[in-house]
Parts: sequence; structure tokens; C-alpha cells
Amino acid sequence: MSILAILEQRGGVWHRMSWEALAAAQQLGEELQLAVSAAVVGQDVSAAAGELAGKRLGRVHAVEHELLKDYTPDAYAAALQQLIAAVAPRVVLCPHTYQVRDFAPKLATALDRVLVSDVVGHRVENGELVFVRQLFQGKINVDVRFAGEPPYFASVQAGAYRADKVAAGSAGIEKFTLNVEAAAIRTTPLEWFRESQRAVDLTAAEIIVSVGRGIKEAENIPMVQKLADALGAELAASRPICDNGWLPMERQVGSSGQTVSPKMYVAVGISGAIQHLVGMKGSKTIVAINKDPEAPIFEVADYGIVGDLFQVVPALVEEIKKAKG
Ligand SMILES: Cc1cc2nc3c(=O)[nH]c(=O)nc-3n(C[C@H](O)[C@H](O)[C@H](O)COP(=O)(O)OP(=O)(O)OC[C@H]3O[C@@H](n4cnc5c(N)ncnc54)[C@H](O)[C@@H]3O)c2cc1C
Repeated sequence: MSILAILEQRGGVWHRMSWEALAAAQQLGEELQLAVSAAVVGQDVSAAAGELAGKRLGRVHAVEHELLKDYTPDAYAAALQQLIAAVAPRVVLCPHTYQVRDFAPKLATALDRVLVSDVVGHRVENGELVFVRQLFQGKINVDVRFAGEPPYFASVQAGAYRADKVAAGSAGIEKFTLNVEAAAIRTTPLEWFRESQRAVDLTAAEIIVSVGRGIKEAENIPMVQKLADALGAELAASRPICDNGWLPMERQVGSSGQTVSPKMYVAVGISGAIQHLVGMKGSKTIVAINKDPEAPIFEVADYGIVGDLFQVVPALVEEIKKAKG
């Protein structure tokens, strides 16, 4: 029994979350005393497999087939089902990427198993594996234990494990031979969607003031802009603000936006959902303004102001102006 990390790459370029999932797999392997192997899927994956072979792994599975050149959920699920049947792992770990969200539930269900998605941590209790995931927009952390026979499937949320913890080593590469029928693939891949060039580079900002749904209406955003101006900061936002078109997408911070680590990050009316936290928790100093003392943002904040942002923000702007003379 082992741990199998199914990792994601495209055209030989690794998805950054693959390394986080690999770090999680190595950690679990150590704690459960299980061997760890990793799989790379595609058409010609020799370069990517070669890179994986430099990590501390028992084995690298190169899952190659011409029908895996472009991602399709049918081909990936079929190929990985065969790999899992051959390897018989106890735990299957994947990064919680969009692609994994697409095929992993299908893969787990095909084997009559469930997928524990969005894992943010784990414990081993008396030899039993307990995964931690969040509910209700991060308000509650829940423990999830597996019932029944392995394999146990889980996907790891962005930022939950540290990519720089991946241990180096030397592993053999094993080419996995599989059968995939073209007739079984129901989707036709089109061109990859390319994001437009970003005009705002939040990653370069030393101070960021970020606004969330607590602002209530687009008309109130200039009030937060004043705070950003007073601090010489860039204005950023949580996803609902950008989804509403109140600020451009390029100002979104989080798992589907930019990852930032400024000297100071001021979160205004942001609850602190995991998808937002992963994009800003590396900030040196975090200040949170929120009327809910239980908001998860306070768990990562260095300074917290519990109060109504419509009173706090103008008062702060006044004080900053006074302090600057
Ligand atoms: C696949 C996926 C990807 C996602 N990617 C991202 C991402 O990249 N970035 C991101 O931000 N989110 C992302 N999300 C959404 C995320 O789950 C949350 O829904 C979002 O972060 C919540 O935004 P918010 O904190 O602004 O709003 P809410 O969760 O609604 O929080 C608003 C906060 O404002 C406070 N508030 C209300 N009124 C006031 C007031 N007058 N004064 C002070 N405080 C007040 C409330 O107490 C609350 O805590 C993603 C979700 C999914 C499923």
C-alpha cells in the first residue's frame, strides 16, 4: 500500500499546485510510513517525468498515450483508473486545480469511492488518516475520516502545503502501458483559453488595500480608494467585487486571481474565505477591518479592527492625513 500523487502539467510545464500536492504526499508518506509514488499524464511526458525523478519518491509513473495529448475527462479518468488498479494505492492525492475538479470526482466514483476535495490539512490519529476541509466559506473546519476500503481520494487546496518543502531524491521512471479508446472520449478539446495581459501588477505593490463584499455597493468603492491613496497603496478586491464588475479582474486576489505578498495588506469587509486567503496570507503584515469578530480573516490578521467599515475607513483616512501632516 502506498500514496499516489497524481500531478498536473501542460506541455512539460508543471502547475505550481502540483508541488504543493507532492509536499502533502511526502508528508503523509512519512507519517503513515507508506511509500510515495507520483504520476504524470500526457502524450510525451519524459521531460516532466525526469524532473519528478529528482524528488524523494519510490517511483514515477509516466502515463503516456496519444489520446492524453489534450486533456479530456474521459481519457484521464480511464487512464488513471487503470493506473490505480495496477498500483493499488491507499491514498490518491491530487492538487485541487480546475482540471482535477473536472475529472477526479468521475475517477473516484468509477471506483465506487468519494473524493474529499479542498483539503487544507491533515492529522494522523492512531494510525488513522484525518483530512481537514472547510465548510460555509471557511467559517468551519471539519475533520473527514474515510470509511470502507481504500483507495482514499483527496484533492489539496492551493496554499495549504508548501511547495518548497518537497524533498529531493532519486526515483526510477516506469512507463505505464494503458488502453484508451478514441470512441470513449466524448469531448473535443478546443484552443486553450489565454488570459489577457495584466495591466496591474499587484505582486509588485508594497501596500495593498483590498475591498470585499462588505462594501455593499460599487458607489462606495471610492471611499476605500481614498484609504489606498492615503497609504500610497494599490487597490485590490475579493472575487465577488470583480465578478460584479465593480473593479477589473486584474485586481482580484486569491486562488483564481493574483497571489500577493506586500509589506502590508489591508482587508476591508473581506470574510477570509480560503480562496482569498491563499492569495494574500504571505503578506508581511495583515490588517483586517470587519464587523464580524468571528470572521476567518482575523485568524491570519496581525491587527484587527472589529467595526463598521463605513465608520472605520473615513476615520483612518483622517488619521493618516493628520500623521502625514
Ligand atoms: C473555485 C473558486 C475560486 C475562487 N477564487 C477566489 C479568489 O480568487 N478570490 C476571492 O476573493 N474569492 C474567491 N472565491 C470566492 C470565495 O469563496 C468567497 O466567496 C469570497 O472570497 C468572499 O468574498 P468576500 O470576503 O468579499 O465576501 P463575503 O464572504 O460575503 O464577506 C463579506 C464580509 O464583509 C463583512 N462586512 C459586511 N458589512 C460590513 C461592514 N459594514 N463593515 C465591516 N465589515 C462588513 C462581513 O462580516 C463579511 O465577513 C472563489 C470561490 C471558488 C468556488
